[in-house]
Amino acid sequence: MKILVINSGSSSLKYQLIDMETESVLAKGNCERIGIDNSNFIYKTPAKTIEKLIDMPNHDVAVSIVLKTLTDSEVGVISSMSEIDGVGHRVVASGEAFKQPSLVTPENMVKMEEIKDLAPLHNPAAIVGVKACLAQMPNTPMVLVFDTGFHFTMPDYAYMYAIDYSHYEKYKIRRYGAHGTSHKFVAQEAAKYLQKDIESLNIITCHLGNGSSITAVKGGKCIDTSMGFTPLAGVAMGTRSGDIDYAAAEYIARKEGMDVSQMLNYLNKRSGMLGVSGVSSDFRDLDEAAKEGNYRADLALNIFAYGTKKYIGAYAAALNGVDCIVFTAGVGENDPGTRSRILANMEYLGVKLDEYKNTHCVRGAISEIQADDSAVKILVIPTNEELVIARETMVVANLA
Ligand code: AMP
Repeated sequence: MKILVINSGSSSLKYQLIDMETESVLAKGNCERIGIDNSNFIYKTPAKTIEKLIDMPNHDVAVSIVLKTLTDSEVGVISSMSEIDGVGHRVVASGEAFKQPSLVTPENMVKMEEIKDLAPLHNPAAIVGVKACLAQMPNTPMVLVFDTGFHFTMPDYAYMYAIDYSHYEKYKIRRYGAHGTSHKFVAQEAAKYLQKDIESLNIITCHLGNGSSITAVKGGKCIDTSMGFTPLAGVAMGTRSGDIDYAAAEYIARKEGMDVSQMLNYLNKRSGMLGVSGVSSDFRDLDEAAKEGNYRADLALNIFAYGTKKYIGAYAAALNGVDCIVFTAGVGENDPGTRSRILANMEYLGVKLDEYKNTHCVRGAISEIQADDSAVKILVIPTNEELVIARETMVVANLA
């Protein structure tokens, strides 16, 4: 059983072919700069890596290059396209149109068109990616898997905003969250690792990367998450402000002569770690600069850590206690300094980090980093969003 996972961006297309018997990656890669000059094709198998410039004027060409390479007699990993049993497509935003992963059907593609502007950069790209795959593999079952999907178990008082109710009814303005596949994956992995039934666990999952979100998971289900209607909400991120008083944004916009879309661009692209530090959005650069005594880099890291700590505290309250805190994604998996800043002085909650374990995690493996006398388990778990998409594809397409 082999599932192809496709993650389409406006000018990119990431792919992974996964063997579901072993849940191992047969081949993966990226088509970059689609529709732009110098399009770049990357293809990796356990045996070799190919990177070359190929003209890719659109996603159709990108998909056909991916399929041709996967089935190539020399470098391919399958002998024909018929070996691909299903295709899972990552979709960023679902609105309330899709509360579950869903089969690609003509009706569902109409619904996809209707929710395009919920994520204007990403959702149209997903549609293009689906269509490109359908053109090459019209008889292969395909599934739409949404980043928001895991969060539909939130109760109404957690997902509703305190605004005019008619705007929820009319426009479906509410909290949707993001990184759902990642939160789901690491919560399940945590339960497996702890050899506990997930039904019995309160887990706080911290997906900390360039974009960051924190989720409260009770009995395997999301009950709250820090991102909102869009990924702009929650903790400060690489370039996003996270939560802010909207009156402050309006004040800046008025003083600096920005209109609404310029303000949103400012909050999404010029704020967060980059805005505060003036150094970089990348935590490696910030760690470096902070070590060299850069006050604003250190401040940015403290804002991030304090914001994350507050969400952990809030979700411990929402969950009525926490058994396990999980760190995942670029920063969560690789930045012990940030984990340490976040978890400092949380003994009241039964959270105590072991600094030695924290700085000696094995990359790519699950690490347990709490002190022996910590009541709460603290785990670092590599995320695998593609695997979740592939698993959901098997279930929804009835391939399991
Ligand atoms: P992601 O969005 O999950 O791909 O995470 C990307 C971010 O992870 C980068 O922007 C870096 O800030 C951060 N990151 C990756 N590796 C490290 C590392 N070794 N130390 C600190 N931060 C890292």
